[in-house]
Amino acid sequence: MADADASWLRQRVIDAALDLTRTGLSPNMSGNFSARDGGRVFITPSGIAYTDLLPGDIVEMTLEGEVLSGAAAPSSEWRMHCAIYEAFPEAGGIVHAHSDFATALAVMKREIPPFHYMVAVAGGRNIRCAPYATFGSAELGQHAVAALEGRRACLLAHHGQIAFGESVEAALHLAHEVETLSAQYWRALQLGEPDLLSDAEMAVNVEKFKSYGRRG
Ligand code: 13P
Ligand code: ZN
Repeated sequence: MADADASWLRQRVIDAALDLTRTGLSPNMSGNFSARDGGRVFITPSGIAYTDLLPGDIVEMTLEGEVLSGAAAPSSEWRMHCAIYEAFPEAGGIVHAHSDFATALAVMKREIPPFHYMVAVAGGRNIRCAPYATFGSAELGQHAVAALEGRRACLLAHHGQIAFGESVEAALHLAHEVETLSAQYWRALQLGEPDLLSDAEMAVNVEKFKSYGRRG
């Protein structure tokens, strides 16, 4: 059946946002979520508690930033979401969070280096930290796009993290992985600087992740 108002996609964006509240991945109303359907983006509204969200609250907009439907203002980070969709055609969903450990590394402007093979889950040998820019600015979107080159997640200096995937669920899963890796790296740092895996070994891991967990 046709889903002209994308109510199913809107509900999936809400479900992802509720997961974040349930798991505590991002405090209070921080973070934002979106899914793309062709040239349309469905994004959480700005500053509204996720537990209060109804499908009609999810803002529909074009990649250029024109609001097509939705009662509230779109997330203040709509420019960053749209810039990522423009730059990465494979992106179908995006999750931005201020998760504790990722943010702790990001305020120190530290990337996540190849201390563990799972770092390859984000698509490369490391998970970069994008330079700081004001929240909601186009500049922040540009920094994120650059830090995401060849990756699906990055840290945002003095802010948090952002992850994308083929769906909003995949993006959410990756955001949880980034938080787990950040916590593990932070804990390892309490004991000293861990040895890092070589570029050659990480290239092997990146290749293995391309088929990991896929059927057939
Ligand atoms: P919004 O409520 O506008 O999505 O902002 C939250 C946030 O994390 C800004 O970076
Ligand atoms: Zn934020």
